Amino acid sequence: MFAFVRFILIVKRKRIIFNFFKKIIAKTSDKESVSLSNLPEKAPEIVPEKSNSGLQPTVYTRTEHNISRKQISDHALKVLYRLKSEGYDAYLVGGCVRDLLLGLEPKDFDVATNATPEQVKAAFRNCRLIGRRFRLAHVFFGREIIEVATFRGAGDSDKAAPKVDSDGRLLRDNSYGTIEEDVMRRDFTVNALYYNIKDFSIVDYVGGMDDHRAGLIKLIGDPETRFREDPVRMIRLVRFAVKLGFSIDEKCEKPIFQVADLLANIPSARLHDESLKLFLSGKALSTFEMLRHYGLFQYLYPSAEKSLSVEEHDFPKQLIVKALENTDTRIAAGKSIAPYFLISTFLWDSVKKGADKNLAKGLPESVAYQHAASEVISKQVQSTAFPKHIGMAMRDVWGLQSRFSHRNGHRAYKLLEHPKFRAAYDFLLLRAETGGADKALAEWWTEFQSAGEAGQKKMVASLNRSYPKKNNRRRRKPAAKGVKND
Ligand code: ATP
Ligand code: MG
Repeated sequence: MFAFVRFILIVKRKRIIFNFFKKIIAKTSDKESVSLSNLPEKAPEIVPEKSNSGLQPTVYTRTEHNISRKQISDHALKVLYRLKSEGYDAYLVGGCVRDLLLGLEPKDFDVATNATPEQVKAAFRNCRLIGRRFRLAHVFFGREIIEVATFRGAGDSDKAAPKVDSDGRLLRDNSYGTIEEDVMRRDFTVNALYYNIKDFSIVDYVGGMDDHRAGLIKLIGDPETRFREDPVRMIRLVRFAVKLGFSIDEKCEKPIFQVADLLANIPSARLHDESLKLFLSGKALSTFEMLRHYGLFQYLYPSAEKSLSVEEHDFPKQLIVKALENTDTRIAAGKSIAPYFLISTFLWDSVKKGADKNLAKGLPESVAYQHAASEVISKQVQSTAFPKHIGMAMRDVWGLQSRFSHRNGHRAYKLLEHPKFRAAYDFLLLRAETGGADKALAEWWTEFQSAGEAGQKKMVASLNRSYPKKNNRRRRKPAAKGVKND
């Protein structure tokens, strides 16, 4: 009897606990349905088993390519193996496969799978889902993140709704699909190679291996359509051509000139991100030249392009070219790069011209520069929206340029203490090197920094001597009549 009562009590307690958890689950899924209802489009949960595309891949077995697991990040391998052991297909894809084939160290490792993001999340403890339109799984290993994307589909389930806008730009891109569909959504053939963890083969649906061997960047599908779908692909084309030293497929070249202006409609925050990738790649100068060749630079930095097209005595072209060269040299030497410095060289000519106009109107020097900087920055962020701190740093660098020539008294010491002195001094050196500033002034500052206390005192004193003295003697009262002043 006693045992029976105990049994009933246990069952009741379990039911209470069960109901408690049921309520919590109902509440969280309620919350989820509220936030999901805000999504622009709901992503389907079902990954199609097979496509009917009939595409036949060429499979390169392990002996037919040079990618070894030793070159692959341990964390990426862990993710691939886990997905495989859970019964899913798992591939390395995109830039990492492309770079590994060339023996380059990939920036990051991206994984593609037929598991849904929720299934990926269930397979890893250290996983977070991101993205609203298209959910991606990020698997965290300390500082390394392995991005796992479910194959993207062609998105034809809702044929009534338009897929592209009137310019041909993709509006919807958020359905899951098969590997055959996933491959067709990628940009270039060399970016669409899949390294299969099942047998270490490379699966190629688009002739990417041949193009890779030929050193060719080629869009998948009709180039103009693909550029219209996403005009940023034009910039990516240039970036990869320079980075890999590949040539551009001639069929991709002509449409660039026809549709380049579509870049003007790309959100400026995205263009800023792209511009950093372009100029911090270690091949900034070649990238800049190729972008200008295809008429693309003007959509990133319109005022710089304008100054370049009306260059006088090779300035400002030389300032920008030198800054790009220095950026590449610093990256090659493993030194850090401050993006604001490069951008400030792009925009300097416009700032200088604006400041000169303001000076002619009678504004004080510092105000003239401040106003010009504000105007140039507010125009520039319409093309590439950089964060506020970048704008602030550029203002400092520009503003300090006019202060370099005011060195007497305590001014030189004060300038030396400014947090942006070093960057502003580097900027002055660049200007002097390219004919935009007095070389002797730049040399003076170089010497001043290493002159030591006594040396600095001497340098400033000799300046004070050479400065015309202000007539600040107090006027004497007129002498009283009959009293001689002498
Ligand atoms: P890297 O990371 O070295 O700059 P990547 O090729 O890996 O180069 P990502 O931007 O990381 O470039 O993109 C990963 C992959 O996603 C690409 O290789 C490509 O297959 C695909 N992809 C990225 N952007 C686009 C795009 N705009 N259109 C089509 N496919 C894209
Ligand atoms: Mg990448």
